[in-house]
Amino acid sequence: MQNATAFPTLLSPLQAGAHVLRNRTLMGSMHTRLESLDRPIERLAAFYAERARGGAGLIVTGGYAPCADGRLDENGPMLVSPEQADELKPITDAVHAAGGKILLQVLHTGRYAKIARPVGASAIPSPINPRAPRALSTQEVWQTIDDYARCAELAQRAGFDGVEIMGSEGYLINQFTVTRTNDRTDEFGGSMENRHRLPVEIVRRTRARVGPGFLLMYRISALDLVEGGAPADEILHLAQSIQAAGADLLNTGIGWHEARIPTIAYVVPRAAWRFAAARIKKAVNIPVIVSNRINTPALAEEILASGDADMVSMARPFLADAHFVSKAAQGRADEIAPCIACNQACLDYIFAERPATCLVNPRACHEIEFAQMPQPKARRKVAVVGAGAAGLACAITAAERGHAVTLYEASSSIGGQLNLAKAVPGKNEFDELLRYFAHSIERHGIDLRLQSRADAATLAAGGYERIIVATGVRPRVPQIPGITHPKVVGYADILSGKAQAGRRVAIIGAGGIGFDVAAFLLHDAQEAQQSVQAFFAEWGVDTSPNSPGGLKPPAPVKAPREVTLLQRKPEKPGRSLGLTTGWALKAELAQRKLRTLSGCSYERIDDEGLHLSVHGAPQTLAVDTIVLCAGQESENALATALRAQGMAADVIGGAEVAAELDALRAIDQGMRLADSIT
Ligand code: NAP
Ligand code: SF4
Repeated sequence: MQNATAFPTLLSPLQAGAHVLRNRTLMGSMHTRLESLDRPIERLAAFYAERARGGAGLIVTGGYAPCADGRLDENGPMLVSPEQADELKPITDAVHAAGGKILLQVLHTGRYAKIARPVGASAIPSPINPRAPRALSTQEVWQTIDDYARCAELAQRAGFDGVEIMGSEGYLINQFTVTRTNDRTDEFGGSMENRHRLPVEIVRRTRARVGPGFLLMYRISALDLVEGGAPADEILHLAQSIQAAGADLLNTGIGWHEARIPTIAYVVPRAAWRFAAARIKKAVNIPVIVSNRINTPALAEEILASGDADMVSMARPFLADAHFVSKAAQGRADEIAPCIACNQACLDYIFAERPATCLVNPRACHEIEFAQMPQPKARRKVAVVGAGAAGLACAITAAERGHAVTLYEASSSIGGQLNLAKAVPGKNEFDELLRYFAHSIERHGIDLRLQSRADAATLAAGGYERIIVATGVRPRVPQIPGITHPKVVGYADILSGKAQAGRRVAIIGAGGIGFDVAAFLLHDAQEAQQSVQAFFAEWGVDTSPNSPGGLKPPAPVKAPREVTLLQRKPEKPGRSLGLTTGWALKAELAQRKLRTLSGCSYERIDDEGLHLSVHGAPQTLAVDTIVLCAGQESENALATALRAQGMAADVIGGAEVAAELDALRAIDQGMRLADSIT
């Protein structure tokens, strides 16, 4: 256990404008799509209040548009009338009652809007939105400035402590500040002063409208990561102008949404972008907030103590654990559920137009449903068989609810498939998750029995009131002549280090695990350590002050092997990868010369290699190793045996359905089942 003094800077108060923030953590803005569900205000109030109760120093809402053109999409939230402001009052009341402070984010999406006719600084289309924008007229720009100020005034009416003006990530304000998207010839285009006029006037007029006591935070693009983006001197000049115009705090954003460099996905090393916040901090006197891939109190403390920033923004870590700050303050940092930067249940859901939640914390954004779960009537004797993701989530949640839990695991360690995931380059955060699970087992007094294969007789003798079978999956072995050839290995043996691959490798199966194995084989062991400098070199990030957008040509990388990834389906491989992380993985592997083949029909394996036909054309891949990543089948022999003896059991995770099993479904199912044990 760490004690509270482990984080003295993080937990110290911060003067920001007329407000004293209780500590230096900011729960950064996240879209949740809770607005799309029934009882949206009640849900949002419960969601934010839980984070306020958990100690967040300051909270920022998801974006609210200041006018109809600024919405994310036709149904996106906006704040344009006193009636709408009054509807938001329960949110601010709930946060204040929980001891927190909350800002409303004012976001105009500009040319990113998924509306019939988006607007922009200029009529220059975005590569990520097929809808062509029209340029705002000069008069409309002045009107938009007024819309921002009015929106802030309405936020004040709704009881918010302030607003965050969203000036980064390539949204409207950012579209005005750089030449990439601004070819105007009026007072909002051309010179740097003109391009900065929109944000500066927004801040100036907003301050004039809301008075000195209302917090005004501006989110500046500390690094655009796009061609034609701002060089550092322009960013610093803007920061100073925003300060002079009346902002109390400067939050930082990294990368436009159209940037081809990952900024928060798991492949980004922790705190990689702190240099950009540190640069701004040197140029201004108001507090500067650092953000992106900071997920532990120890790392946050180190950054603040180094003087690189005054406050730390974390968004996803507050989804993973609403009580991040209070646990850190109470010397219980080991109990913080870690955000593993997978994006699977937060950003991927949002992009798929589903409300967000969290892989490690399925309760996130479902606070009101979980609050209604009936409490246990008695302490039940529960057996969970299998300590993979589903079994762990189930056992820990059941024990948390007061049940007496015995957790059986056939192997010598907990984690199941999670142990394989953590070996994949960039996925070291899975280690953190396993550490958290191990600590939770100990803390809740779970009777963990490793190397213990529970059978029906053991379970019958144990007198358990509930038996949960979470025995997971076994890799599928495809029926290909020669499949027992010594060249053939399973993915588990490769990722666990039990087997070594040769220089030329074919991977059968291009699902999530096939891609993970390709990443593993195309990196050498040292690269898996995620050095920030190596990441910048590989992705072409320039940390020197002069480069527009912070870009340079990516350095060529030499992969240690030649890898071919195969699938039978005719489509392009990689469709099953995460929406917001898959593109980065594919780009990284393409740099390392991964070859992919679709439309494969496997014929045989022999000393020559793998014989197959590709879209009907026969060929032989002369490879040293063939790795099987052909999916999984349920390991449910125990469930069958229990049923045969008439014993009731719940079957969860891969043991129930192997197809499309991932940690997200496993944890969600395990936790929900445990919550239903009364
Ligand atoms: P998967 O996604 O179902 O992929 C299995 C692959 O094996 C497919 O490419 C399939 O393609 C091939 N295959 C299936 N049966 C075959 C057979 N009889 N012979 C030859 N090839 C066969 O399974 P997975 O890769 O094992 O992943 C398991 C789960 O973990 C999935 O839900 C996955 O989404 C998840 N996961 C996700 C990530 C991520 O990045 N988000 C990473 C790892 C795992 P064809 O049938 O076209 O050949
Ligand atoms: Fe973090 Fe993944 Fe949870 Fe998103 S879903 S908050 S990335 S752990």
